[in-house]
Amino acid sequence: MSFDTSGMIDPFGRAISYLRVSVTDRCDFRCTYCMAEDMTFLPKRDLLSLEELDRLCTVFIEKGVRKLRLTGGEPLVRKNVMHLVRSLSRHLGNGALDELTLTTNGSQLSRFADELAGCGVKRINVSLDTLDPTKFHAVTRWGNLDKVMQGIEAADRAGLRIKLNAVALKGFNDAELPELMRWAHGRGMDLTVIETMPMGEIDADRTDQYLPLSLLRAELERRFTLTDIPYKTGGPARYVEVKETGGRLGFITPMTHNFCESCNRVRLTCTGTLYMCLGQDDAADLRTPLRQSEGNELLSRAIDEAIGRKPKGHDFVIDRNTHRPAVARHMSVTGG
Ligand code: SAM
Ligand code: SF4
Repeated sequence: MSFDTSGMIDPFGRAISYLRVSVTDRCDFRCTYCMAEDMTFLPKRDLLSLEELDRLCTVFIEKGVRKLRLTGGEPLVRKNVMHLVRSLSRHLGNGALDELTLTTNGSQLSRFADELAGCGVKRINVSLDTLDPTKFHAVTRWGNLDKVMQGIEAADRAGLRIKLNAVALKGFNDAELPELMRWAHGRGMDLTVIETMPMGEIDADRTDQYLPLSLLRAELERRFTLTDIPYKTGGPARYVEVKETGGRLGFITPMTHNFCESCNRVRLTCTGTLYMCLGQDDAADLRTPLRQSEGNELLSRAIDEAIGRKPKGHDFVIDRNTHRPAVARHMSVTGG
């Protein structure tokens, strides 16, 4: 059955065309800015099955979603996740979806790169904060840089376009970001830097980690020629072209520049909870309507109600006086 295809429009006139799906909250890393080392994950029985996730995504696609990103936790550690990718790829084949993509820490890419490319995935985002193996281990706690590098190579060989994402961390990788940029651009990859966002309790103090990207940009401009360009990938990054490298550098600045006015996305968790804003607690339960009936009418109605209360934006603050995270959940619940 198909639904009204006039699309999902929120109360501020924004068309919702991008769905991010966190397929698991689990991860094989414990990045210091993302998780506490000792995380409690959801009991497996609370998870939607891959078939249920497929059904939910399909209803969103019928309602106007054109771009779908799988994320997590680490999406590639969910058991049999490639069944879901393969099944969702049918929407690429019939033109209902423009793009199926994922955000990954790269640890499992050597195993899955070829299959992803075979399913019609064209681009992926790989998160990489440093090229130094010791620092990599320090920031991810459990990660191994060699394995990620092998994954990046495998993805490149498979013909996947790769964008690197790095979280800018004061006193940790800020001095190294120019080198990371040269490294990425030298391999034909874009690099996007992200400000840390106050999501979930972690073991560290976020005030110590937070680096406003306006400062990073000013620093880079002492060494490189940055020109603003209108390039867009459907995400919130603002891009510049770097004359010296010929590559593109993106800035995701939720803290210093509110990007909410053009927000086109919603986020679904692996338990079927829909978050209408990354920085707000309000959420809609889609698991109940999903399981209540075999048809999708209840689900479709629940989605419409949720979109009808998508908030205008987030209220992230990181300063010495604000000790509580803006939202209690960790980034791994919604996947960024
Ligand atoms: N595990 C996958 C990965 O690392 O790419 C996908 C999920 S991860 C939550 C998605 C992105 O969110 C990563 O690029 C990660 O660096 C970023 N991230 C996690 N916690 C963050 C935070 N508190 N502030 C800003 N970015 C964060
Ligand atoms: Fe895992 Fe990604 Fe969070 Fe790191 S950022 S702990 S890789 S979910």
